[in-house]
Amino acid sequence: MTVLDDVRRLIERLSPHPVCDDCIAERLGLSVRQPANHKTRELAGTPGFERRIEACSLCNSTKTVIRKTVKSSAR
Ligand SMILES: [Zn+2]
Repeated sequence: MTVLDDVRRLIERLSPHPVCDDCIAERLGLSVRQPANHKTRELAGTPGFERRIEACSLCNSTKTVIRKTVKSSAR
């Protein structure tokens, strides 16, 4: 299990609600050595995830969040 896997699972669990980097870091107990924004940026580059400015579903702050996008092939 890598940190990236943990981040992905958390986002998938919260799906379709967006979550910000800070909340991801807090939920997973990430330290400054493992900045959450590096992981979310990495994930945002993969299919099925998107990063945008929106209200976080956990802290309600409008900031950069990430969430899982619905796959059209999942029907
Ligand atoms: Zn948040």
